[in-house]
Amino acid sequence: MSDPNEPISVPALDLKAQYRTIRDEIEPVVRQVLESQYFILGPEVAGFEAEAAEYCEAPHAVGCSSGSDALLLPLMALGLKPGDEVVTTPYSFFATAGAIWRTGARPVFVDIQPDTYNIDPALIEAAITPNTRAIIPVHLYGQAADMDPINEIARQHKLFVLEDAAQAIGAGYHGKRAGTLGHAAAFSFYPSKNLGGFGDAGMVTTDDPTLAKQLGRLRVHGMEPKYHHHEVGYNARIDALQAAILRVKLRHLDDWTAGRRSVADRYARLFESEGLTDIVALPSEKPGHFHVYNQYVVRVPADARDPLRAHLSANRVGSEIYYPIPLHLQTCFASLGHKPGDFPLSEAAAAETIALPIYPELSDEALRHVVGTISAFFDAQSILPFQRRRNVA
Ligand SMILES: *Cc1c(COP(=O)(O)O)cnc(C)c1O
Repeated sequence: MSDPNEPISVPALDLKAQYRTIRDEIEPVVRQVLESQYFILGPEVAGFEAEAAEYCEAPHAVGCSSGSDALLLPLMALGLKPGDEVVTTPYSFFATAGAIWRTGARPVFVDIQPDTYNIDPALIEAAITPNTRAIIPVHLYGQAADMDPINEIARQHKLFVLEDAAQAIGAGYHGKRAGTLGHAAAFSFYPSKNLGGFGDAGMVTTDDPTLAKQLGRLRVHGMEPKYHHHEVGYNARIDALQAAILRVKLRHLDDWTAGRRSVADRYARLFESEGLTDIVALPSEKPGHFHVYNQYVVRVPADARDPLRAHLSANRVGSEIYYPIPLHLQTCFASLGHKPGDFPLSEAAAAETIALPIYPELSDEALRHVVGTISAFFDAQSILPFQRRRNVA
């Protein structure tokens, strides 16, 4: 409970609050793994894979060492090589494009939809060449990309579709779940994801049994049977402690998702009742989608964004920018030859978005403090550009 004499503070993420609610379930399974001294792959991992596949409604799940490896393994299985191209979004975590680059293939970026921040299917066709092998849509912030048109384009051009579902476990799209919307999907169990481990871990889902077997080999240096290598993989194994912890946490995931969605609803009501929705654009859940809100990202005028962040911080409210530099402008991709202006909607999002605290344990009082702090910020600016631009617009 918060100390009534302390001013309220709302961190961007509070993993301790969640841990307190499950400590009694976690400790015995951790002890069991310690007693077994069976740490790599093994029965806990097989158990987790079966339960996670069922949760995602996917025929196969293959655990691995991280979400980054969950992207890389299927691309390796595809046999990508220099000269190949993979279409993706420039507005994502680095790993999406990094995995493409690591295979020697070239990331080909396609701009986003301004309201969902996901890849715009209407722009994909123009990016496809005879060298295109795959598309990686990202289900950013916990809402699925618009997969029907993406899959239709992929079908016409015979392309592999890999969902980057790192932020989207449990997300829905027209009655199907993230992890079943392409040929394969990559999940991350990084601690800040909706299903977070106590370290790094990841998973690939697929409906293709041959691919699932191959992924299972690639994560152990392409080995099958022991010490026989017909292809070169690497070490991308998941450990038993993560699997055991994730099995416990998976049982709570639907409740936590409901908690996140409730926070999103309460934010929306507070922003509306404060009259802020002209100046603060809220996340929108599209029809037919089920958003799992790994992040609650709002959008404000570019010149207000960083001052607002400073004001939130001064009032003990954590926030983050996901992501301040779109991937096409990252130094390491300079050889792709991109310049500012190439993907204007991604660049605008990078300058205007701010992620507010969202986790199931957030109290009404905390949410009122966040929105009240934002309201006070815009009130104080009312004679300066923000209000004026509003009147001009
Ligand atoms: C977290 C994340 C990844 C990478 O996952 P790790 O487990 O950190 O390697 C990839 N893509 C997106 C969109 C992510 O959010």
